[in-house]
Amino acid sequence: MESPGKQRIVVVGGGPAGVFAAIEAKRAAPGAEVTLLSDEACEPYEKPPLSKGVLTGKALPEHAPIAGPNGMAAHNVVLACACVTAIDRVGHQVITATGQRFAYDALVLAPGSINRELPQWPAGMARVHYLRNEQEARALKSALVPGKRLLIVGGGLIGLEVAASAATLGLTTTVLEVAPRILARVCDTETGALIADTHRRHGVALDTGEMIEHVRAHDAGIEVATQSGKAFSADLVVVGAGVKPNVALAAAAGLATDDGIVVDAHCRTSDPAILACGDAVRFPGPAELIRLENWRHAQDHGMVAGRNAAGAADVYKSLPSFWSEQYDLYIQGVGWPAAAPRARVRRALDGGRALVFWLADGAIASAMGINAQRDLAVVRRLIERKVPVDAAALADASKPLQAMLK
Ligand SMILES: Cc1cc2nc3c(=O)[nH]c(=O)nc-3n(C[C@H](O)[C@H](O)[C@H](O)COP(=O)(O)OP(=O)(O)OC[C@H]3O[C@@H](n4cnc5c(N)ncnc54)[C@H](O)[C@@H]3O)c2cc1C
Repeated sequence: MESPGKQRIVVVGGGPAGVFAAIEAKRAAPGAEVTLLSDEACEPYEKPPLSKGVLTGKALPEHAPIAGPNGMAAHNVVLACACVTAIDRVGHQVITATGQRFAYDALVLAPGSINRELPQWPAGMARVHYLRNEQEARALKSALVPGKRLLIVGGGLIGLEVAASAATLGLTTTVLEVAPRILARVCDTETGALIADTHRRHGVALDTGEMIEHVRAHDAGIEVATQSGKAFSADLVVVGAGVKPNVALAAAAGLATDDGIVVDAHCRTSDPAILACGDAVRFPGPAELIRLENWRHAQDHGMVAGRNAAGAADVYKSLPSFWSEQYDLYIQGVGWPAAAPRARVRRALDGGRALVFWLADGAIASAMGINAQRDLAVVRRLIERKVPVDAAALADASKPLQAMLK
């Protein structure tokens, strides 16, 4: 395992952050020995299809390897299936569940998120599903039988993607959301209403402002009562209650954590030999430390961590963005979340499309849209370049956004 003289870079975690960190480390230091340790016994795969095409039967998890069709080997990265259980920071080694040790000169942690488990719905309870990895996606897929009654707890992005997949398959689908509206954390009221209407048109019942009071499981199904007095019966339940950062390994090793592994703008943790990236990490945003849970951030953050593990001193400055797919809606957001309320401008688009901007200091600070991919690609550049914009022109769909770049 050890090769004296060669720089050894070890990456823990086979999600996009870990995969891109490993690939980028090898690219930046071709002479280094780069090893990716993943606790899943397969080539690293993309998670976004798990709530979409994998559930509707259009794709299998292995159809989307993160590293491309020839996997990590094509990038000259060693992939090993190993669950890392401890870090020996003095000896510069990671220790796995089977007692194997991997020595490192630089270590990158990319352990991602773990599902937020609700006490009423313990993982492993019969008929109850959480969705984070391919095993859980396969189990859920086989339970999504047309005609069954599905109750989804949580009207966030994952819950609604599962709802769209299940409704498409012909399940009787209900979403229970505790907040007064779906996607309250993600989008403005009008855009949320547009998405909600689309779900209702596909037969999905959305019950918002509902707090679950009582759950009873029996042989034939699950009964749920809410505090407002409503009752629901289901054959299966999917819990989409968000995620939390997977910090256990870093915290046990004495690294600084605070709702995430804390890193600086170079992805360095409180130990200079250890970097961290992706969903599990809190990093310096424009105003304060921030944690993001989306694919693009994981990829870009991983790339910076990988280069810096190989000796660079790059600063992470990607603009955050996310997407979601529900039915024929391609939902996207770009820009930093607001620390304070911002002026909002809505552009009048036709054909069920939507585009809304939030402004700060005369420029666009963030935006979100539905089926407005081309516009949002331009908006990304307007935000990155801090181009001064005129609110009236933004609202007017006859004024091309492209022209504002000049
Ligand atoms: C069902 C689903 C759908 C999604 N859809 C979208 C979408 O449409 N758009 C979007 O922007 N984002 C989406 N996301 C979010 C996106 O996939 C995540 O933000 C991204 O995967 C985070 O990447 P990561 O590498 O930081 O962590 P993860 O992808 O969580 O990967 C971490 C990996 O590390 C492994 N690991 C953890 N601890 C150890 C250890 N000690 N030893 C070895 N291995 C370990 C884990 O098993 C896991 O494979 C979705 C997520 C899910 C679950």
